[in-house]
Amino acid sequence: MSDQPSSYRPGRHFLQIPGPTNVPDRILRAMDRPTIDHRGPEFAALGLECLEGIKAVFQTTSGQVFIYPASGTGGWEAAIVNTLSPGDHVLMFETGHFSTLWRVVADRFGLVVDYVAGDWRHGIDPAVVERKLAADSGHAIKAVMCVHSETSTGVASRIGEVRAAMNKVGHPALLMVDAVSSLASMDLRHDEWQIDVTVAGSQKGLMLPPGLSFNAVSAKALAASKQARLPRAFWSWDDMIPQNRNGFFPYTPATNLLYGLREAIQMIVREEGLPNIFRRHARHAEAARRAVRGWGLELVCLEPREYSNAVTAVLLPDGINEAAFRQVVLKEYDLSLGAGLSKLAGRVFRIGHLGSFNDLMLCGTLCGVEMGLAKFGVPHRKGGVAAALEYLSS
Ligand code: PLP
Repeated sequence: MSDQPSSYRPGRHFLQIPGPTNVPDRILRAMDRPTIDHRGPEFAALGLECLEGIKAVFQTTSGQVFIYPASGTGGWEAAIVNTLSPGDHVLMFETGHFSTLWRVVADRFGLVVDYVAGDWRHGIDPAVVERKLAADSGHAIKAVMCVHSETSTGVASRIGEVRAAMNKVGHPALLMVDAVSSLASMDLRHDEWQIDVTVAGSQKGLMLPPGLSFNAVSAKALAASKQARLPRAFWSWDDMIPQNRNGFFPYTPATNLLYGLREAIQMIVREEGLPNIFRRHARHAEAARRAVRGWGLELVCLEPREYSNAVTAVLLPDGINEAAFRQVVLKEYDLSLGAGLSKLAGRVFRIGHLGSFNDLMLCGTLCGVEMGLAKFGVPHRKGGVAAALEYLSS
């Protein structure tokens, strides 16, 4: 017998970062097909099915959804270049790493960003939205741009209340929402909240590999795009519209990801159903938070009304390095946890509990964290997993 270390890891890897998420075997099988002619009749049927079917996931009937072969960042850019002009004023909110990155995109296109400072532990304050817009009597602000679920902090902003604040003061700005980590895991109502552009990606609640991004677009945003003067080529909605009408795209689409998307829509809309999906995510998120409290650790999110049901961000005690902790968890238990991002690097790890996920996957994840806390010598209480189990089985 040799005592050579094993280069094979038996069992399944636990991918519990908040996206990319676990891709169900069923979706992998759906994509495992020959790539077809993207100008042919078979593709047209697939394209139409995806373009029409995805609307229900955004809870829109009046909106139009554009699908790009891109990541979420491309969706951000598409939202901006199709609706705005150089020098336009926009209102954005510092909720965390991703709002900061979206702001950088806005800056690079020459927008004038009023970036409302935040502590990365709270969501957008609808009262601030109301105050800022009420003060803008000349309607210089052309868009209010919000991240729904801030994946870096586990804080979710109350978009319905942001919309109510905009309506209360009768301000005509567009409402743009990043739903990259909330779509198909948390209630996101494109029509009811009168969102003008909802940005999303394939690799989170939709349970697909990375590679697709989305703009769900209102009639008001489409009208704005006719006047907007930022240059656009790849992202142009105008180029998409005539092609999409027949199920086609202006350039080579991500054909095999669209096979996967068709399967995901079937699973989300017709089999599990959005209300069940939202309840499942809420239940798993609550169990994860109970585990964190059971360990005596602190959640990044300070406002219970703003808990994200997609991801839980956890502060480690002073002196404990998050990256080194996650490294031990990966090595010992084959469990990937989310890193602390930018300002939170070194201090915060994140548990992703979105997408294709069930009770036992959550239990395994929380067990991996609890064993990792002990192994790495993080000061904590036992009993986090027990608290989660009690909640899940009650
Ligand atoms: N917005 C949010 C909320 C995200 O979580 C992410 C990525 O995790 C992005 C935007 C950027 O998306 P991508 O990395 O796919 O470009």
